[in-house]
Amino acid sequence: MSARQPTQHVASYYAASANPGPERPSVSGRVECDICVVGAGFTGISAALHLAEQGQSVVVLEAARVGFGASGRNGGQLVNSYSRDMDVIEAKYGEETARALGSMAFEGNRIIRDRIAQYGIACDLKEGNIFAACNAKQLEGLREHQALWQRYGHDQLELLEGEAVKREVGSSRYTGALIDHSGGHIHPLNLVLGQAAAFESLGGVIYEQSPVTQLTHGEPVVLTTPGGEVRAQRVVLAGNAYMQGVEPRLESKSMPCGTQIITTEPLDEATARALLPNDMAVEDCNYLLDYYRLTADNRLLYGGGTSYGGQDLASIEAVIRPKLLKTFPQLADIKVDYAWSGNFLLTLNRLPQFGRLNDNVYFAQGYSGHGVTCSHLAGKLIAETMRGESERFDAFAGLPHLPFPGGRLLRVPFSALGAWYYSTRDKLGI
Ligand SMILES: Cc1cc2nc3c(=O)[nH]c(=O)nc-3n(C[C@H](O)[C@H](O)[C@H](O)COP(=O)(O)OP(=O)(O)OC[C@H]3O[C@@H](n4cnc5c(N)ncnc54)[C@H](O)[C@@H]3O)c2cc1C
Repeated sequence: MSARQPTQHVASYYAASANPGPERPSVSGRVECDICVVGAGFTGISAALHLAEQGQSVVVLEAARVGFGASGRNGGQLVNSYSRDMDVIEAKYGEETARALGSMAFEGNRIIRDRIAQYGIACDLKEGNIFAACNAKQLEGLREHQALWQRYGHDQLELLEGEAVKREVGSSRYTGALIDHSGGHIHPLNLVLGQAAAFESLGGVIYEQSPVTQLTHGEPVVLTTPGGEVRAQRVVLAGNAYMQGVEPRLESKSMPCGTQIITTEPLDEATARALLPNDMAVEDCNYLLDYYRLTADNRLLYGGGTSYGGQDLASIEAVIRPKLLKTFPQLADIKVDYAWSGNFLLTLNRLPQFGRLNDNVYFAQGYSGHGVTCSHLAGKLIAETMRGESERFDAFAGLPHLPFPGGRLLRVPFSALGAWYYSTRDKLGI
């Protein structure tokens, strides 16, 4: 039998600038443990670290490397709240649910900052994120957004209109912008690697190159990998868009989607400051949004686009570069050093899916494009519920979720059609 080739991080700016860390062994033979977490992204590592801090004995199984999935290759933007905002939650699921979710909407961001401070994680934290309006309708939306978040106690927002936007973004594309001074941006791969090291410093064990190929429910739960099996009393499934074929129930009401990022050569200080004078992260308000920020070494990291179903594009630069130049035409001659894509997991209502498959198998997934902060919250709530305090986890677990229209066969073209409709409205400003 030929040896399995190890799977490394995607060739990204993040992998090229990752802090040094160990390559962990894969599972060999039989491993017994109290809690097994499947997936070493933000969700899995956040849960593992919170559980280890509670004194639990935890093993993490990762198919490739820590941070291989979306967590190690995303836009790095610390965006508060959820992909569907509180007004929709209020309208669809009622006041009580909205109050519960609203009380946690800004917590993931705080958890990340606590982690960075507590464990001294070097991940290029910078302050502030901006929502940029491309037309009058979107600016009106930002005004409502500000009022909404203020109602939930978040007062670190500042609205800019017209030319004032240029104070923060050197682009003529925008009619307005909302700054969240409590948001920010980070090097996501280094954030997850730093938390993995913190978990290991507390006695936690991580196996890399250990994809779970089969899960057999029971007491214990048996997790089969190519090199051996893990028997665990309790399991956390945190494979998000990258977990396929392990548990059909987790795939039935969600859809993997791809999004792409390019990163330029380093810009000189004056050019960088002209683009983003105060070095904040930006995402626009379009349905298919663009998102960008400067890295620690002044590269412009620019992402956008969504491919439903998560298929890789033939040429990422050909798709993303025109978007970058639409925002910053002054960069026409810039060289692109890195281009990569990654998958996030979309749900129909854009709200995350937390829950239990059995009394001893928990899951959290489906942050629908805004998962950096919420995945950290998910990890904390999983640890809470595993020590018997399940009220906050259950506020999410109680949300109803539906399959995408069209089923597995037609959900991709149906969603692409929906996205075309909404992005056409964005272009028309209606
Ligand atoms: C390109 C891109 C840009 C993004 N930008 C932003 C952003 O700027 N801000 C924001 O808030 N959100 C962003 N997101 C979303 C965010 O990155 C994700 O929501 C979040 O990282 C999800 O974390 P996770 O741990 O749940 O999943 P992942 O990080 O995908 O981790 C899942 C892990 O599970 C492992 N795994 C899967 N199956 C198995 C198995 N069978 N056995 C063992 N291991 C397994 C995978 O290898 C992977 O490492 C972006 C996503 C992408 C793809």
